[in-house]
Amino acid sequence: MLLRKDAKVENMDYTILVNKEHLLLCDYVPEGLVEINEPMGSKLDKTYVNRLNSEVYAAFKQMQKDALKVGYEIFIDSSYRSYGYQDRIFNDVALKKGTEYAERFVAMPGASEHQTGLAIDIIYRRNSEMIEEQTEDDAEIKWLCENAHKYGFILRYPKGKEKITGFNFEPWHFRYVGKIPAEKIFAQNITLEEYHELLKI
Ligand SMILES: [Zn+2]
Repeated sequence: MLLRKDAKVENMDYTILVNKEHLLLCDYVPEGLVEINEPMGSKLDKTYVNRLNSEVYAAFKQMQKDALKVGYEIFIDSSYRSYGYQDRIFNDVALKKGTEYAERFVAMPGASEHQTGLAIDIIYRRNSEMIEEQTEDDAEIKWLCENAHKYGFILRYPKGKEKITGFNFEPWHFRYVGKIPAEKIFAQNITLEEYHELLKI
């Protein structure tokens, strides 16, 4: 896929805050989504089509290229999810494992920042094999945690910040916020919630 030069979305707020207290409406569909060419679809649903904000995808491709230079083959597993799709995931998990479990481990529809088209779940390949169980000890995750901010991404749900983000630690979930906010969030070791609080002062 080729990105058009004019594909950049004007006035897009890349730091938009979406969480259990800041919900997106069911009809919210972000502008500037492009279909992306990633080898893996979401493991949750093989009919899933990866789509992402065009600027975010360009930033990811650069990060992917640089990761490869140091030996890490990273890919996007899951990117944009519509409200309806998130609703299906939530209900599927609730049916299989109970509502309490679903509420703990799956974002409610409207609370998932995958609906913004700015969030990605990362997977990686080693010796031609896709690694689908990502942990914080994986070299790929460590590299991402140290370097993603240079490309405008942050680790969105860090360990120890569960009470602030409202989400469990997710070492695979990265969120694009743009380079300058990402640098600030990284340097101060804060979450997007805390970044928004600082903006109010
Ligand atoms: Zn995610």
